[in-house]
Amino acid sequence: MSQDVVIVGAGPVGLLLAILLGREGKSVTVVEKWPEIYDRPRAVTMDAEVARILATLGIDCDNDPAFENHKELYYWKNADLKDLQIVDWESLAPCGWHVTYWFNQPEFEARLIDIASTIPSVTLLRGWTATELSQNAMGAQVTINDATSARNIDAQFVVGADGANSFVRDALGLNVIDEGYFFDWLILDMIPAAEYKAVSAQWQLCDPKRPTTIVPGGPGRRRWEFMVLPTEDKNEIAKPESAWRLLEPWGLSPENAKLERSAVYRFQARYTENWLKGRCMIAGDAAHLMPPFAGEGMCAGLRDAVALHWRLSAILDGTLDMNVLQSYESERIEHAKHYIQFSRDLGDIICIADKEKADERDARMMADLAARNHEPITGDLVKLGPGVWCEGTATAGELSPQGMVQYQGREGRFDQAVGQGWMVLAVECSTAGLLSDTQRAALKKVGGRLLSLGTQGHDVETLDASYRDWMSKADAHYAIIRPDFYVAATAKTPEQLATCFDTILDRLAGAR
Ligand SMILES: Cc1cc2nc3c(=O)[nH]c(=O)nc-3n(C[C@H](O)[C@H](O)[C@H](O)COP(=O)(O)OP(=O)(O)OC[C@H]3O[C@@H](n4cnc5c(N)ncnc54)[C@H](O)[C@@H]3O)c2cc1C
Repeated sequence: MSQDVVIVGAGPVGLLLAILLGREGKSVTVVEKWPEIYDRPRAVTMDAEVARILATLGIDCDNDPAFENHKELYYWKNADLKDLQIVDWESLAPCGWHVTYWFNQPEFEARLIDIASTIPSVTLLRGWTATELSQNAMGAQVTINDATSARNIDAQFVVGADGANSFVRDALGLNVIDEGYFFDWLILDMIPAAEYKAVSAQWQLCDPKRPTTIVPGGPGRRRWEFMVLPTEDKNEIAKPESAWRLLEPWGLSPENAKLERSAVYRFQARYTENWLKGRCMIAGDAAHLMPPFAGEGMCAGLRDAVALHWRLSAILDGTLDMNVLQSYESERIEHAKHYIQFSRDLGDIICIADKEKADERDARMMADLAARNHEPITGDLVKLGPGVWCEGTATAGELSPQGMVQYQGREGRFDQAVGQGWMVLAVECSTAGLLSDTQRAALKKVGGRLLSLGTQGHDVETLDASYRDWMSKADAHYAIIRPDFYVAATAKTPEQLATCFDTILDRLAGAR
């Protein structure tokens, strides 16, 4: 039987993509080589954008027992416990969710599998390994094997969400740019006794004797990450007795905590130069790998899934041409590269094991912190690479902000009250006369909506100042929002809006 999409890999990225496509009725088969969920310590933190994405699946990270948010600042301290850096992890991000949430990756994957299992058009084949891939202009074919047999699955598209050692990437002959970056870290997932109280929920100890990360590991869990020093043997340090010795100064012992998982990982930085070949493409760790200092590896992969979803869905519906896939690669690769570099920059500060270099770092960072009166820093919004958005219009290419609204009797965050998809928003002004008939028809064809938004007498009633503040900073009245929540364009006048709209249509058609 032919499928709309075959996804190789049932990690978080493959599962999210399967859910997004499957709940629109697209037929999706996910092939996963392991019979059970991969139970090694990996992601524990996700950002506000991912919380926004998960909300579209009905997961409310603010109120769901599988997620936690500590509403605390994130401190980086030196060996004398003096502050080096303070990061604002307690506020709401402009997109309406908290900056950081904590969770347990195997539980999260189990949750995604539960959701996928409720969707009739999604099939998950566990214990099958993809071993061959071929394609022509009409479709693609994946050969999969279990212990005793082989079978072929035909599909219109194949997505390799098959992790760092991606078979799909290699079968497509895609070139990996390896930036090296070899630091070994021991990762320990702990379940402390209920009475264990952490001094700070989340902090970074920049002690050259042992760089250490101390963070939550999701509800009921905590995570310690210890850098393996250049003189140490990574096999020795991975043994439970070494782990407990390292945990002792932190007040943890087998009497008051359970060591749930432990592993030494070699942190790497690399990306694949092209993510697309014909009807096959890659996403997630198959496409990019970064050291986890920014907690962004999985987040970047989940963004890939969302970016692929709206494009594949529209192609399968016949509303967009296959050319739109080019912008998946051009937009996402630059975005992911930003986070690879950012993670490396953080690692360059954290992974200092030399006392003299650490002293220099401490003096520099403490002076910077004092110069800004110990004000916590906030993260910048990262722009997509070139693609389906209008350069030169303020905030285009960035994740759109989100406020609380009321719409047709529903009150809440915009995404939940109004929904998702292409939107042309007129903020504190009317939609009358906006866009030509042809443009309105084009918007309708991709399932888009034209809505006015404001305090009173608008399609959508705003309940806070988010949209007004955004438009005022952007010096605009209109915005075009994409199905992945990114801003395609902002405009001050109806004429500018119409021009931007046509540019977006051209970009969707693959024109540059
Ligand atoms: C120590 C550590 C800490 C981390 N912390 C964070 C964090 O806090 N926040 C964050 O965002 N990210 C973090 N990450 C990164 C995050 O875990 C990964 O980015 C994420 O798991 C990638 O998801 P994926 O779905 O792309 O790939 P994977 O999770 O690797 O899934 C790929 C799947 O494909 C399957 N597969 C492979 N080949 C085949 C084949 N030929 N046939 C069938 N199936 C196949 C594999 O079995 C696997 O299940 C961390 C990583 C590490 C190592």
